[in-house]
Amino acid sequence: MSQIQHAVPIAVQRCVICGFDFGTGLDDCVTHATELPELLQETLGKVDSAAVRHRLAPWEWSMLEYGAHLGEVIPWYLGRVQQVLDEDRPQLQPMDWTIEAEVGEYRRRSVQRVCADVDQACRSLIAMINSLDDDHLRREGIGSDGSPRTIEVLLTRADHEIIHHERDLRRALDRLQG
Ligand SMILES: [Zn+2]
Repeated sequence: MSQIQHAVPIAVQRCVICGFDFGTGLDDCVTHATELPELLQETLGKVDSAAVRHRLAPWEWSMLEYGAHLGEVIPWYLGRVQQVLDEDRPQLQPMDWTIEAEVGEYRRRSVQRVCADVDQACRSLIAMINSLDDDHLRREGIGSDGSPRTIEVLLTRADHEIIHHERDLRRALDRLQG
C-alpha cells in the first residue's frame, strides 16, 4: 500500500504580529537590508545607555538585545544558506535565541558594536542574494520540523527577522519615550 501524502504547504502567508508577507520577493529583502543599519543606529541613538538596555517586560528584549539579535540571526541564516549550497539536502539545526542572548550577553554589548555587527550582517546578506541564481534559490535543506526548506525560504525568513524586529524596536522606543 502506498503511503498517503498528507503534508500540506504552510498556508500562513503573513506574520500575524508584524504583517510581513512571506510571498514578498528578495528584492524587498535587499531594500530592507540596505535600510536597516542606518535605521538601527538612529533608533538606538535616541535613548541613553541605560534605556537602550532596559527590558520593558520580562518576556521582551531590550532595544539593544533586539539589535544584537539581528546582528547574529542574519549571519545564522546565511550559514544555513551556505550549508544548503555546499551539501545535498542537509538537515538544518534549530537555534535557541533566548539562550544565545544570555550566553552572548547581548545586554552588555556596546551600541557601537551592535551597529557594526548589523551593518556587516546586512552587507553579507545583500552580497549573498546578489550571488544566487534561480537554481540556487530552489535548492533545499531539511528544516527542524522535517519539511524541505528552499534557500529562497531561508532568505525570506531572514528578511522577516528584519521587519519583525524593526517593529519591536519602534514599539520599545515609543514606550520609552512615551
Ligand atoms: Zn513578524
